[in-house]
Amino acid sequence: MIRNEYARIIDELFPDANDPAVVDAPEEALVRLLESDDPDENALLFGRAAAVRDAHCGSRMVVRGLVEFSSYCRNTCFYCGLNRANRAAERYRLSADEILESARLVDGAGIRTIVLQSGEDGYDASELARAIRGIREHYDMAITLSVGERSREDYALWREAGADRFLLRVEAVDADLYRSLHEGRELSTRLECLETLRELGYQVGSGVMVGPPGQTTSHLARDIRFLASREFDMIGVGPFIPHPDTPFGGAKPGDVGLTLRVVALLRLVTRNAWLPATTALGSMDRDYRVDALKAGANVLMPNFSPVEVKKKYEIYPGKRCVTERTGACAGCTEGIARAAGLAIDWSRADSLKMERRLPAT
Ligand code: SAH
Repeated sequence: MIRNEYARIIDELFPDANDPAVVDAPEEALVRLLESDDPDENALLFGRAAAVRDAHCGSRMVVRGLVEFSSYCRNTCFYCGLNRANRAAERYRLSADEILESARLVDGAGIRTIVLQSGEDGYDASELARAIRGIREHYDMAITLSVGERSREDYALWREAGADRFLLRVEAVDADLYRSLHEGRELSTRLECLETLRELGYQVGSGVMVGPPGQTTSHLARDIRFLASREFDMIGVGPFIPHPDTPFGGAKPGDVGLTLRVVALLRLVTRNAWLPATTALGSMDRDYRVDALKAGANVLMPNFSPVEVKKKYEIYPGKRCVTERTGACAGCTEGIARAAGLAIDWSRADSLKMERRLPAT
C-alpha cells in the first residue's frame, strides 16, 4: 500500500517527468525512498523512473560490447576476486592484437561501442594506445576504457590515441567507508583521477556497489547526491557479490531491491545519464537486468571477452554467461529489450550531457 508520505516525497522531489535534473535532493528524503521495500511504493518509484528515462533519453536501450583484457591487479580491494592477494585467481593478459580481434567480433555484432576493462594491471600504456589506434583505424566505434587509476600522462596518451570515454567507479564517497573497503588507498586519489579524466575531455562514468560490508542507506543517499552533482555521463551500479577467496568472502550479498531503488533514484535525479543494467544484477539468484531496465536503466553490456579467458575475469563468482561462446550474449540482447518494452539503439550513443558542457559559441 502506498503511504501518503511516500507519494508526497516523490511528488515534491520529482513533480514532472520533463523537469531538469535534481542535484540537491535532500539526504533524508533519499533515505526514506531507499528504505521502503513495499511493492506498491517501489512500483510507483520504478514507474516514475521509467517515465523520466523515456522523456529524457527516449524509450530505448543502448548496447556496449565489453572486453575484459587483463585480470592482473596490483590492488587489494577487499571485495574483488581480482585483488592481488588472491592466489587462487588465474591471471591473463590480452595483447593489442588480441584486443583488436575482440573488437572485430563487437563490430560484427553491429555494436558501436567497445568497453575495454581490466584489473589495475599496470598494463603497458603504449600497448593499450596501440590497441586504441588499431580499433580507431579499422572500426567505426566509440572506445571506452575502464582500467582504474593511472597517471595523467597515460590518460592523456590514450585520449590522444582515440579513446572517448572512461569508467571509474568511485565505489563510496564517504572517506571512512572507502578506506574500509580498500587497503592503503584513498578516496582523494580516485576523485583526482575523475577530475583529470574530465579535464582531458573524456565522457566520464562512475558508480558504486550496493551492499558491501559497512554501507548504510545514508551512505548510499550521499553517493547518489555526489553522482548527481558531478553530472557523470554514465553511472554503473550493481549489488556487491561476495567472492569466497577475498576478505569479504563471508559477507552477505547486496540486496537486489535496494540496488533497483538506487538505479531508479539515479534516473530521477540525473535524468539523462546512461545507466547500465549491470552484469552483477544479471548474476544473482536470477537475472534482474530486465527489472533494472524497467526501473529506469537504459544500457546493456554483453560480454565479448574471448571464451578462454572469460571465467578468469572473476571479480565475483557466478558471473553470467562465462561459458557462452564469445559474443553469444548479443543474442540475448533482443529478448531483454523486448521484455523491458524498449527499442534497441545500435548507435554509439554518446553522452546526452555533452551538449550542455560544450562552450557556448
Ligand atoms: N580495475 C578497474 C575495473 C574494476 S572491475 C577499476 O578499478 O575501475 C569493475 C567494478 O566491479 C568495480 O569498480 C567494482 O565496483 C565492481 N566489483 C568488484 N568486485 C565486486 C564484487 N565482489 N561484487 C560486485 N561488484 C564488484
